Amino acid sequence: MKRFFPVLAVFLSACAGTSTEPDYDAARQMIPKGPRADEIRERFHVSLYGSWEDGELSVVLGAMEMFPNKDLSGLEFYRMPRGEERGGRYDLGRVTVREPTLDIVLHELGHAVHSRCPSRAKLDAQLQAALGFAAYCSASSWSDGAGGPRRGFVSPYAAMNVEECVAESVAAAKLWSRRGRGPLGEADRSDERFALVFEILDAHGLTDDEDREEIRKIGLSSPQR
Ligand SMILES: [Zn+2]
Repeated sequence: MKRFFPVLAVFLSACAGTSTEPDYDAARQMIPKGPRADEIRERFHVSLYGSWEDGELSVVLGAMEMFPNKDLSGLEFYRMPRGEERGGRYDLGRVTVREPTLDIVLHELGHAVHSRCPSRAKLDAQLQAALGFAAYCSASSWSDGAGGPRRGFVSPYAAMNVEECVAESVAAAKLWSRRGRGPLGEADRSDERFALVFEILDAHGLTDDEDREEIRKIGLSSPQR
């Protein structure tokens, strides 16, 4: 799955002598119109900027509907052209999307709900204790070159740090509960770290009833619960 890699992008920009900061001012000159854009703004109290196609806005709407228990108001969504940077990024309430796929938008919304979690410090500490983040990976693959979920991480990218772990895990929960696809289908049921990660996310309100139910059905929950 393609992602925006901040570290790599900063390195590239240092080499090229250019800024990687998305041009938010330019994007703000473009405000999408139409019923889909209106619906998103009215229902979720967010802002949309840049050149969005209608189908892309449907993806955003579908992703936001997967967070029924979350206040997403105030978020700004920027559609930026795909260039050296790909995927998406989340930064201080701004969701920047260069590839408007459901997987990418869910990942960035995962960052958004994580950043707004009132008990974030405790959540982060619990995940750190459960998993450790010992640079297992190179963002896109494990050290042996393979991808997929491992050791409680839903993807190699999730092992980067606690922020990416939460974003990847929340996206994986939503993809599984609403679409029946994604890395949870391949997660090792016998590795209790997966169950623990989703129990921690659930305890801090980052997943909802539907996520919990569907994750429980595939055996990714502790036997005692
Ligand atoms: Zn991320």
